[in-house]
Amino acid sequence: MKTIGLIGGMSWESTISYYSIINECIKEKLGGLHSAKIILYSVEFDEIEKCQSSGQWDKSGEILGDAARKLEASGADVVLICTNTMHKVFDQVQKMVKVPLLHIAEATASELKKAGVKKTALLGTRYTMKEDFYKSKLVERGLEVVIPNEDDMSFINHVIFDELCLGKINEDSQKEFCRIISDLKKNGAEAVILGCTEIGLLVKQEMSVLPVFDTTVIHATKAAEIALEA
Ligand code: GLU
Repeated sequence: MKTIGLIGGMSWESTISYYSIINECIKEKLGGLHSAKIILYSVEFDEIEKCQSSGQWDKSGEILGDAARKLEASGADVVLICTNTMHKVFDQVQKMVKVPLLHIAEATASELKKAGVKKTALLGTRYTMKEDFYKSKLVERGLEVVIPNEDDMSFINHVIFDELCLGKINEDSQKEFCRIISDLKKNGAEAVILGCTEIGLLVKQEMSVLPVFDTTVIHATKAAEIALEA
């Protein structure tokens, strides 16, 4: 079995999901006492968020690259950046190590394609929804992407940083996310990408009028599959 390196802590609430999903997948495939070989490097998220909000992306890339190097030196065969937003510095981090990094948007795009989706809604941080680094990975793979309006984007961003990353699950926010997903369906979306690793803690498939593609589940599941490849 290959060893999975996780760069986590962004936020640690969602890193817990990665750890448990990967182990559930291994358990399902191998049964018995089998479990995943995982090395976790959990960063100090306040440092990373300060880099994001002050536009110091290179500095945040250095921090994640340093974490990737440590995972590589410890024997990781594949490395995951356990957040969608920080894929903005994916190339910078990948350049710092030889071990392959598994891109969250590429893995997600391939699941959407498999399901025959052509037009998808994207929920995530303001950076993920508005900027091109993430959407381009979907568009390059033939997907059309719809995002919420300005007010809804501000609301989603606020819920991510002021509630979900702090472990707060608020029922009113849940209802509002579902309303936003319904609006995006009216704009032609056939599916919704939970493009932030904490949104799956709030929005469940049964509440959503659109099929949900949870990036945490997709990314973690793909990592488990890679770990079991010959
Ligand atoms: N975990 C979130 C994401 O997937 C947001 C935290 C961050 O800014 O990295 O984008």
